[in-house]
Amino acid sequence: MSGFAAVDVIRTKRDRGELSGEQIDWVIGAYTRGEVAEEQMSALLMAILLNGMTGAEIAHWTTAMINSGIRMDLSRVGRPTVDKHSTGGVGDKISLPLAPLVAACGAAVPQLSGRGLGHTGGTLDKMESIAGWRATMSPAEMIAQLSSVGAVICAASADLAPADRKLYALRDVTGTVESIPMIAASIMSKKIAEGTASLVLDVKVGSGAFMKDAGRAAELARTMVELGARAGVRTSALLTDMSTPLGRAVGNAVEVAESVEVLAGGGPADVVELTVALAREMVALAGLDADPAAVLASGRAMDSWRAMVAAQGGDPDAALPTPRYTEQVSADESGVIQRVDALAVGVAAWRLGAGRERREHDVQAAAGILCLVTPGDTVTVGQPLFELHTDTADRFPAALANLAGAVVVGSPDDAVERPPLVMDVIRQH
Ligand code: URA
Repeated sequence: MSGFAAVDVIRTKRDRGELSGEQIDWVIGAYTRGEVAEEQMSALLMAILLNGMTGAEIAHWTTAMINSGIRMDLSRVGRPTVDKHSTGGVGDKISLPLAPLVAACGAAVPQLSGRGLGHTGGTLDKMESIAGWRATMSPAEMIAQLSSVGAVICAASADLAPADRKLYALRDVTGTVESIPMIAASIMSKKIAEGTASLVLDVKVGSGAFMKDAGRAAELARTMVELGARAGVRTSALLTDMSTPLGRAVGNAVEVAESVEVLAGGGPADVVELTVALAREMVALAGLDADPAAVLASGRAMDSWRAMVAAQGGDPDAALPTPRYTEQVSADESGVIQRVDALAVGVAAWRLGAGRERREHDVQAAAGILCLVTPGDTVTVGQPLFELHTDTADRFPAALANLAGAVVVGSPDDAVERPPLVMDVIRQH
């Protein structure tokens, strides 16, 4: 007998008390082993969502989730390790050019990534549009590739923070995802267990992001930076705008193509700006003296990309999948684009087959959207705004319905209000 009862833990949080370290260790361990009922953990999660947690509770909860599984040891990699995590956005393909860029600067980037669920895409789904590329690697393969190439994008092992996997699924169906302590513990437990020495967080703000307002996004960022500091992981967070999709491409193969454009020295200005800003922060945390903009311009990041893709069985020269059907949406008035709504575009791309409704569904590699305009552009009636891609034509009506109202056209005299792409940077003291 452990001496703990789930109902006492629930009552403590219900009555706004502070959970002890022992209570947290017990409840996470027992829940992961299936010894705490789902309805009891649901009640505890709701009490946490409503009453919050102290810094000490969040830190303990995170440690207990780390201790539910394996902790990777990257000390043999032979380069400073530094990772990036994004809270998720529309057209957020930044990991693809960023990992090889930071590798080309001399670091090792262990990008353990996930698949998409809902309107934000998953890095693994995007990479799987590359013929032959495989997401699954053993820890030994991962460490060997980090030493030789300096970058890995692969699936996280099921043994990494298994408590989070179970808890996340429960939060999803109990209306408790939006708790800042729970989001922070979920993200940081996986990143700390992964073994990276440094971490840069890209916390998205805006309609296409998890956090719609800057105040909550900043609170999440501060909570995660603090958790990193407590665990000895050098951590910074950039707060970045997600009211408009990043770049032009939203989907799978289209986002790979746009990432390759960036690595080749082109690509949309916002994707290049964010890639370089995140790379600068990562290189600084890793203690390296390299200029990511110069490394990108030199072509060395492209060399690292090709080596990274090939090391995981992919053919960097293979043609990317193309859609069976395409359709265009055109402007029905002339003027200046005020807004391209990230959420509307993300949901439309998902409806076209770029994302999945249920975990067990497959995604279409060729599905997605090209955004042909961005805020500040001048358009005339009939000018194409979006190009829609899918392999299943009956998906068009739902996607088109989501795009209705996604673009706001104003008069040339209206000021276009667009927040800066990098809104703030939060660092450890
Ligand atoms: N991403 C995670 O990994 N966990 C959360 O709780 C939210 C976003």
